[in-house]
Amino acid sequence: MIVMKFGGTSVKDVEAVGRVVQVVGRERRPRLVVVSALSGVTDALLEAARLAEQGDGAAARQAVKALHRRHEEMTVLVRATERRASLLAAIDALFAELEGIVRALAVVEEVSPRSKDAIVAFGELASCRIVAAALEDAGLASRWLDARALLVTDAQHGAALPDRKATDERLRSLVRPLLADGLVPVVGGFVGATPARLTTTLGRGGSDFSAALFGAGLAADEIQIWTDVDGMLTADPRVVAAPRVVPQLSFDEASELAYFGAKVLHPATILPAVGLGIPVRILNSQRPEAPGTLITRTVEGGDGDGGPAAIACKRGLIRIDIASTRMLMAYGFLRRVFEVFERFRTSVDVVTTSEVSVSVTIDDRRSLEGIVAELRAFADVSHEDGMAIVCAVGERLRTDSRLATRVLSALEGLPLAMVSQGGSRKNITVVLRDADAPAAMERLHRRFFEDEGAPSERAALATA
Ligand code: ADP
Ligand code: ASP
Ligand code: MG
Repeated sequence: MIVMKFGGTSVKDVEAVGRVVQVVGRERRPRLVVVSALSGVTDALLEAARLAEQGDGAAARQAVKALHRRHEEMTVLVRATERRASLLAAIDALFAELEGIVRALAVVEEVSPRSKDAIVAFGELASCRIVAAALEDAGLASRWLDARALLVTDAQHGAALPDRKATDERLRSLVRPLLADGLVPVVGGFVGATPARLTTTLGRGGSDFSAALFGAGLAADEIQIWTDVDGMLTADPRVVAAPRVVPQLSFDEASELAYFGAKVLHPATILPAVGLGIPVRILNSQRPEAPGTLITRTVEGGDGDGGPAAIACKRGLIRIDIASTRMLMAYGFLRRVFEVFERFRTSVDVVTTSEVSVSVTIDDRRSLEGIVAELRAFADVSHEDGMAIVCAVGERLRTDSRLATRVLSALEGLPLAMVSQGGSRKNITVVLRDADAPAAMERLHRRFFEDEGAPSERAALATA
């Protein structure tokens, strides 16, 4: 069996869902369909939650009403009148419930992380009903499933961690029988629930992660991520003008790219696939005939004179410089530094060290003040906002010792605040000013992926 996950833009309107129906209909293997909320809906739900928290009940209800209307309009894609009426009734019931929640929260002017999850989950709870009804209407026997009954998580609202074992049991009892009966189950991504049935979410972009968790639990033959681009591109298309599709990536390459900003995959997506070696394919729902990107355990062609597989950037970061006040890298200093980040549950992206100091970057600024205050108890600390990570990723970095130098030389003249080559040696990462990130990306892209740059690069090598 396979898992087919469709992102927000792939279900954004009637035409888009029509394409999903075609793609799912053409597939002959047993399949579980995972869907995101219609594009923009999660943001709109968060905005409704914000309005409720401010006590602006009227505006919050207005926002819910607009979403209700948008979802109601989607029901035109179901032609059978009875089926359409029952979809409409389901949508009405969902949005009536949501309105009640928002109304109550606006009265108390308080939206806890737990309540916020209860609100944002409605996007996926509604979209999966629509897609299931559309599939049925096209003659594909399908069944809508409540993600809260399927994905079991801990209670870290907004960034819940899955309980793989409990989830696998639910998959066995709820999904397997449907697949065996030839039905196409449709479930919302991103959403789960604690064992005590409190609604949780996996964090933004988390539908990819849901798909991978379900794929691993069902020992799928393939996990397909259907989105709005032709696959993993050589660079973020919002930063670089004409990126190309990367046909194949290893699990490690894809993970690093996702972690360092390639939004097309949620950074945790690859993890569940790794253990079982399940291939992950990124495909374009607007061009289903395009081959996409295939992500597997290993890839061919890790040697030779080629460049990195792709580049990525992560922007809007803070760099923190921490220097031991004892002037020497005292024993235990690093442990104390990282314990502070652990206490504040703040993850560090890049780390570089010198004899007496450590520099790190973080993107979660919520605890910055507390972190700095605690570090100051034993170190001199300074921090700078407006930084970015630019990184080149590729198995080839491990085998071609000249590649890291070639990457750095492409950045000549740009002030680099930190440089790091990961232990896996599958990436080389620099930290620079955010304002320099687009130029750095353009230069790397030209050097390694564009026709104009490639020949001169080869020429440079030939004379080296
Ligand atoms: P979905 O709604 O399908 O989950 P996302 O918006 O989360 O889609 O991810 C797809 C988007 O990721 C693309 O439209 C593109 O702008 C962005 N993106 C950033 N970096 C990359 C990359 N290296 N390759 C492909 N897409 C990328
Ligand atoms: N709808 C959620 C979001 O916008 C999850 C997802 O689309 O992956 O973040
Ligand atoms: Mg996404």
